[in-house]
Amino acid sequence: MKIAVIGAGAAGLAALRHCISDVYNNEVICYEREDQVGGTWIYREEYGMDQYGLPIHTSMYKNLRANLPKEIMGFPDYPMPDLPENYLHRTQILEFLNSYCDHFKLRQYIRFLHHVALVKPMKSHRKWIVIVKDLPKNSEIVELFDAVMVCNGHFSKPNIPKLKGQDIFQGQQMHSHNYRIPEIFDGKTVVVFGAGPSGYDLALDISRTAKLVFFSHHMQHVIGTVFPDNVVQKSDVVELLEHSVRFKDDTIESVDVMFYCTGYQYDFSFLDETCGIHIDSNMVTPLWKHIVSTENPTLAFIGLPTRVCAFHLSDLQVRFVLQFWSGKKNFPSMEDMLREETEEFKTLTNDGMLKKHFHVFNERQKFYADDLAKTAEIEPISPVIINIYDECYMQFLNDLVNYRNAKYKIIDDYNFIRY
Ligand SMILES: Cc1cc2nc3c(=O)[nH]c(=O)nc-3n(C[C@H](O)[C@H](O)[C@H](O)COP(=O)(O)OP(=O)(O)OC[C@H]3O[C@@H](n4cnc5c(N)ncnc54)[C@H](O)[C@@H]3O)c2cc1C
Repeated sequence: MKIAVIGAGAAGLAALRHCISDVYNNEVICYEREDQVGGTWIYREEYGMDQYGLPIHTSMYKNLRANLPKEIMGFPDYPMPDLPENYLHRTQILEFLNSYCDHFKLRQYIRFLHHVALVKPMKSHRKWIVIVKDLPKNSEIVELFDAVMVCNGHFSKPNIPKLKGQDIFQGQQMHSHNYRIPEIFDGKTVVVFGAGPSGYDLALDISRTAKLVFFSHHMQHVIGTVFPDNVVQKSDVVELLEHSVRFKDDTIESVDVMFYCTGYQYDFSFLDETCGIHIDSNMVTPLWKHIVSTENPTLAFIGLPTRVCAFHLSDLQVRFVLQFWSGKKNFPSMEDMLREETEEFKTLTNDGMLKKHFHVFNERQKFYADDLAKTAEIEPISPVIINIYDECYMQFLNDLVNYRNAKYKIIDDYNFIRY
C-alpha cells in the first residue's frame, strides 16, 4: 500500500515506524509542515502566525516538564533512556522523539516544510488525492495514495468559550496556546480559567511571577491539592467587567489578565467534505473505535483520545489500523462499525458524559486499549503502563506542587513501585 502520513509528531513517527516495518512493509510519505519532528514538543518563542502565514502549531511553554513519568512516556519497542530525572523537561522529550526517529531511520520518509492543504477521496479509483504545499517553494504537489493516516495533533486550535463582557474587558485576554514564559505576568493579577491538566500546571507556572492567581473552575468541590499561597480557587467566571471579573459566587475581583485554559478543538480543515468526517461538539464522527472512518476505512485518525499515555496509545492505534489495511484482519461492515460508535456514545451519555468529552479517556483508557489489542490480535499495552498512569494521575490531582518528585520503577508487566 502507498500510505500518506500527515504530521511527524509522536503519532506520525509511530505511524511511520510501523508502516515501514518488516511486518507491514508499506510505501509511505509523511508530510510535516514544520522543519523538524516532534510536533507539540517543539518550543517556539513566537506565537500567532509563522513565516508562511500558517497558525503556529505548538502550544509548548518554556518551563514545561511532562506530567507523566518517563517510564510510561516511551514507546513499547523504544523506551525512554534511563535518565536521573523522572518527569522530563520538554527538551528531553523532543530529544527522545528525535532519537526514536533516527533509531528507526524514519527521517528519509518525511517531507519537511510541506503543508497538507487538501485530502479528498477518489472513490472511482479507491485512492486518496492529497494536495500538499511545499512551503519554501510556494508550490503545490498532487499525489495519490491508497490510505491516509491523519496524525495532525489536537492541541493547536484554541477553544475560547463566549463570556459576557469579553468585548468590554480592558485587561489582557489570552489562551494557553499562546503562553510561553511566566515573566509576562510579572506582578499581575491573573484569572486562570479552566481546570484541565494544563489549567493546573499553568496556575502553578505563572504563580512564580504573578501577584495573585485566581484559579477558576466549575468543579462542585474545592480542589484538594495544596497550591502556592498566591493561588486562590474560585468558582466559574460569569462576566467580565472593564477591569474586573465577576464569579459565580457573586464576588467581583480586580483582574489584569483573563487567561483561558479552556482546551482545544479538533481541526481537520484539510479534509474535503466528501471525506465524510464531521466534528460535532468536539466529537469526531463517524469513526470506528475512535480511529477509522466508517465511510472510508482507508482514512484513519491517530491520537484523538486525550488524557492517555499518548505515545503508547498512538503506537497501538497505528498497529491496529495496519492489521486491517494489510488484510490480516477484515473490517466489520459499515453498519456494524456505526452501531458500535452509537452504542458507546449512548452508554457514555447515559452515564452523564457530555458529547465534547467523547474522546477524553482517563479510566476508559485501559478498556479501550485492551479492546483494540484483542480486536486486531496484536500485542496489548503492558498493564503496568496504564497502572502507573492511573496512579500518577491521582498524584497529580492530589499534590500538584510535589507530584513530580515521585519516582517509579517497573517491576513486571503488572507491578511497579513508587518511591
Ligand atoms: C502543553 C502541552 C503539554 C503536554 N504534556 C504532555 C505530557 O506531559 N505527557 C504526554 O504524554 N502528553 C502531553 N501532551 C500531549 C501531546 O500532545 C502528546 O504527548 C503527543 O505529543 C501528541 O502527538 P501528536 O503526534 O498526536 O501531535 P503533535 O505533536 O501535535 O504533532 C502533529 C504534527 O502534525 C503537523 N501538522 C499538523 N497539520 C498539518 C498539515 N496540515 N500538514 C502537515 N503537517 C501538519 C504538526 O506540525 C505537528 O508536527 C501535552 C500537550 C501539550 C499541548
